[in-house]
Amino acid sequence: MKYQELREEVTRISRRMGDSGLVRTTAGNVSARTPDGDVLITPSGLPYEDLEAGDLALVDLDGNLLEGPLEPSTEVPMHTGIYRQRPGVGGIVHTHAPYSTALACLGLEIPAVHYMLAALSEEGRVPLAPYATYGTEELAGYASETLGGTHSACLLQNHGTITVAETATKAYSLTEILEEMAELYYRTRLAGDPIILGPDRIAETRAKIAGYGQAKRS
Ligand SMILES: [Zn+2]
Repeated sequence: MKYQELREEVTRISRRMGDSGLVRTTAGNVSARTPDGDVLITPSGLPYEDLEAGDLALVDLDGNLLEGPLEPSTEVPMHTGIYRQRPGVGGIVHTHAPYSTALACLGLEIPAVHYMLAALSEEGRVPLAPYATYGTEELAGYASETLGGTHSACLLQNHGTITVAETATKAYSLTEILEEMAELYYRTRLAGDPIILGPDRIAETRAKIAGYGQAKRS
């Protein structure tokens, strides 16, 4: 089968997402860009524990099904729209993670409540895309617009989350960070008035994250 390694990566992450509590039942979806510029994406409505590498759908950047035994995710337009707009993105994860989605239902974006928010945004915030019905081109447009050229994460109003990165594995790690930030923001708002970090603090942290793991001396 073509793209075996990439298929296994997407399958592994999808199962992990299913086990993690970041999604329930069959909600959410994961995709990766193939070396040929098409997209491997999880199928619609299949429980993650049953998912196998051969079940993934291969679609082109316009969302046409090229290959796959099952219907692709209903959110194909959102994934392909982001890949068209962001050439550097190689993986996308969409969830209904509970704290992030709770904030999205309150119509809130997430400010820099903790330094790790720097991993998600140059601007020090996770923006909120307006509501549109799931699976529509309208929602796809809002998601792409809200992510813009630089954000790695956004909330979808009354719906859930999107994270993007060079790989699907990295996009999944960003979802875990996003949910941690959402939980912190939710809890600190309940308890009082959280201190929000300024743009200079976010810039310093981003510079440190960029150098992380590359400091080996010869
Ligand atoms: Zn969804």
